[in-house]
Amino acid sequence: MTSVHRLVSIRSFNHFHHSLPVPVTRTTIPFRTPAFTIMAQKRTLSTSSSKEEPEKQPKMADEENGGNGPDAHQYQASDRTDREEDQWKKRAPYRIHESNDKFDAKWEGRCHCGKVQYQLSREKPLASKYCHCTTCQRLHGSPFQWAAIFHKEDINFTSGHHDLGWYDPTNKSTTHHLPCKVHCAYCRTPIMDEGRNMILLFPTLIKDINTPKGKEAFKVQSHMFYPQRVVDFKGDGIKKFKGLADESPLVDDDGNLLPGQEKKSGSNDDDKGENKL
Ligand SMILES: [Zn+2]
Ligand SMILES: [Zn+2]
Repeated sequence: MTSVHRLVSIRSFNHFHHSLPVPVTRTTIPFRTPAFTIMAQKRTLSTSSSKEEPEKQPKMADEENGGNGPDAHQYQASDRTDREEDQWKKRAPYRIHESNDKFDAKWEGRCHCGKVQYQLSREKPLASKYCHCTTCQRLHGSPFQWAAIFHKEDINFTSGHHDLGWYDPTNKSTTHHLPCKVHCAYCRTPIMDEGRNMILLFPTLIKDINTPKGKEAFKVQSHMFYPQRVVDFKGDGIKKFKGLADESPLVDDDGNLLPGQEKKSGSNDDDKGENKL
């Protein structure tokens, strides 16, 4: 890689990390202070009147902080679906299809441990891409990300939202805040990126992906953020983009702008584009 490539990598490193989470400040009461004494007295009083008042159930941590604090997110993977903030669990892509839904499974996929299993009703993804951005490199622990785009309705997780976990790279929190990354909560296999309207599925989880039929159906059409790559793809004949596919300038196999691409706008090094999905 040339120094130019490194500069581009550093500049674009933050494209997933627009803002940091607000730090949590916890109030601690020092031992034997007046405040502690008051609390102790209150406790004594409430104990004496406990015969008239039924004992309160312990509050959930997210109720304590109004449901908005970081603690609220740890319940998102729970079985609860009764609260407003749980309703997404009943919608695509997590809605469990019943047998009478006639979900036509064309492909099947699973995580490494097998707790997360899914079916796909679409023969071919809407698009298939390699993303070479440094965020994908880091989050996947691999040279690049392979993502196949599907509608949210195209997938059926056989256990719905169960056994899944979420990571919001923008806020660096384990929340189901879109766009977010989705993994198996047990074996941590990355499953997909969930955008607002689409999902970017990682095809290596699909059974038969390494057969001629699988390779043909999920054939890659473009390389994204190619100048940030750690591996070269020379002579593969696949379009290479400086940033987002079809929106940023085309580059050659060495990552240099192709003639006539200098003025093309929307190179967007700092925006991977999940926000548009
Ligand atoms: Zn798993
Ligand atoms: Zn990427």
